[in-house]
This record gives sequence, structure tokens and C-alpha cells, in this order.
Amino acid sequence: MHTARVARLDSLQPRQIMHIDFDSFFASVEQQYNPLLRGKPIGVTAANGTPNGACIIASSREAKKLGIQTGTRVWEAINICPSITFVKSDFLKYLEISKVFLKICSDYSPFVELFSLDEVFIDITPTIHLFGSPENIVRLIKTRIRDEIGEYITVSVGVSHNKLLAKLASSRNKPNGFGKIEENDIDSIYSTIEPTDLCGIGRAMGSRLNKIGIKNLLQIRNYSKEKLVLEFGPAYADVLENMAWGRDDRPVVPYYLLNETKSVGRSYCLHQNEYDKRIVMQNLYELCEEVGIKLRRLNKKARGVSVSLAGTCDIHGRKTYGDYFDTGAEIFKRLKPILEKHTCSVSREYVRQISISVHNLKDNGDLLLSLFDNPKKDKVQATIDRINDRFGDHTIRNGFLLYSDKLTTMPNGYMADRFERANLAT
Ligand SMILES: [Mg+2]
Repeated sequence: MHTARVARLDSLQPRQIMHIDFDSFFASVEQQYNPLLRGKPIGVTAANGTPNGACIIASSREAKKLGIQTGTRVWEAINICPSITFVKSDFLKYLEISKVFLKICSDYSPFVELFSLDEVFIDITPTIHLFGSPENIVRLIKTRIRDEIGEYITVSVGVSHNKLLAKLASSRNKPNGFGKIEENDIDSIYSTIEPTDLCGIGRAMGSRLNKIGIKNLLQIRNYSKEKLVLEFGPAYADVLENMAWGRDDRPVVPYYLLNETKSVGRSYCLHQNEYDKRIVMQNLYELCEEVGIKLRRLNKKARGVSVSLAGTCDIHGRKTYGDYFDTGAEIFKRLKPILEKHTCSVSREYVRQISISVHNLKDNGDLLLSLFDNPKKDKVQATIDRINDRFGDHTIRNGFLLYSDKLTTMPNGYMADRFERANLAT
């Protein structure tokens, strides 16, 4: 594709962006591979042996109809449907299917962005004349998914002039649907949906909007900009304003043009509400180790950390340091001051979800070894990494972790960082 021509086309006509989203991806894949699971309510879980408190990370269409969703606990699901089948997730299988899917999409435009393991954006503006219409591309892609991946795997597709609205269009046409949103449709659709139906407005943001009296996206248009800035800060106020008008000029970034990795993170949902601070800290340490492994695989070091613990109180914070680091122990040490600052009014607090990430990354090659650094330290770590690569993650682990959960650096469904995407592109 000649880039100059593409650019000119872009400026002459509105863009045509397609969003494709697999329906109940992990669960459908399991049903595709095992016909005995078809037509039945199933829940995919991350944990071995499905402990009662574990979260369901994906449920089948049949389970969704009963109200069993992502995030439903195993015991809740059993209460709703005693005959539900639980299947342990197999991310390598999902990853393989994502690769086939990307190949199919790439035949319809060079601009295919992997948004998550089961979602892509395709900019069809420069290629649409080759295929006639978006509807025709959708028909071709759906047929190829059926033939090349499996008849049990279906997708929902949305088309619009930007990513925000294309994603909204697909979410309104699930499962196995197709929807289009044109400029003229925005107001009538916005008047019927919740702000949280838009990608980018989460539940927490939704309730903050609610608190200042905004229950509908159209209301943001008339809301005082100063007040929005006061409430959400200038950057997010702009985002909200653009969303309210259905504006979004983010480009579709092809998956093979990997952006510079800006952060590396990992999030973990504990099996139960955890009141024991020591266990929380052990799991936190384990996540630090994992993020350290990812960082070192990317050949980078970080100097910023952020952490969030969710449970009875929401604790979150970030901190940037002057020096760079890449080991779990160093990350953990730098997270601690954020947690120590925190006080909670609840006498017995528990934690359920732990998320950490590191930012302000730099390539190892660009870092000068400081006079005070011990070059031996990197060598010891490299040896440990080689052993762990060979025998499985965390064969050698810090003594502090002796009895904590053994996590694993598998891709997660949300593709929280670009590490997994880098693997996909190869
Ligand atoms: Mg999906």
C-alpha cells in the first residue's frame, strides 16, 4: 500500500473503521475443541481445581443467558446453575486462534490493530473499493472464520467512522451480529445508553459522572468545561468531551508496528477475600517477580512503579524514582512506600484484587551503568532467569514466597501490556 495515497484518501473521505469482537471467546474455543461442551453453560476459570472463590474469566453464551458473567465467582455460578461445567483456561490455544484470526483480517487491510486477544480494529478506508462494501468484508471474514477456525466460533462486528463508535456498534450487536453507526445516529443512540457502555468509561468513572449529575452522554455536551476539568483533570475532561460528541481521531495502529512499550503490568484476583496482610504481601511480591521477568525479557529497566489493591478500601498510587531497576525485589521495595502511606478506616480490611505495573522504561542498551551498580547482580539474575526458563517460572524464588500462590507469566485475556502482543507478531 502506497502510504502517500493512503494519506490523501484519508483526508478526502471519512474513515471506515471496523471493530471485530469474538463472542464469548475463551468459552467458544473450548466448545469448538470439545463438542461435548456445546450448547451447555460452561465457565472458564484461570485456577486449577476451580476453588469456590475463584472468578470465572469467560462464560459460554448458554451461561451468559443465566446471568453468569466474567467475574462471577465459582460458588455463585453453582448456585445459579448446579450443572455448570468448569474448564481451566488454555491461553496458548487462544493465542494460536488469535494468530489465525489476525492472518485472515490482514487479507482485507494492512491496518489491523490487535486490541485484545479477541478483538481487532481494521481500518478499511484504503481497501474498501476492492471489496465493494463493509458488509461484503464482514461476510467474507465471517465465512473464513467458520472455515478456518471453526463453526462454533462467531464474531460481532461494528463499523463506523472512528474506533470509539465502531466498538460501540459491535457491542450493540452481540452475538454474531453486525451494526453500523453513522454520524446522524449518534444522538439517538447516546440518548438510550449509559455512559459506561462506551469503551473508556469504566464503572468507577460511571459513578463519578453519576455523582455530578451526568447520567447520559449528551449531558456532558452542556456541562461546564471548567467543572469537568476540576473534577477529572484537563486530559480526561478533553477525552470525555470528545466522547460526548462521538469524536475520536485515534489511528488504527497495525499490530506488527509495535509501539514502544510504555509500561509492563500484571493483575491478579485472589481466590478469596484476603484479610491476612502477609499473604497479600506475598502475592504482591510474586507479581513483582513476574513483572521483573517480563521487563528482563523485553531487555528494559523501569524507574516508575504503580500499585492498586482493591477490597474494602481502594489503595492506589504511583511513584517515580531516579534510578532504574528490573528485578522483582527492587520493584517490591519501591512499591512499599506507597502502601505504607495508606491508612484505612475499616478495622478489618481485606484485599481481593492486586494490580501492579512499572513505567518510565528504558532499553538496557541506553542505560549507563552507574558507579555504584554491581554488574554481578545482573549476571546472577540472568542465571536465575535461564534456570527458570528451562524448568518453569519461579523454580528459584525468594524465600519469602515459599508458601505463596505460584503464579505464571501467561498472557492474560486483557493484554494489559504489549509483551504478549510482541509475541503475537512473531
Ligand atoms: Mg469478546
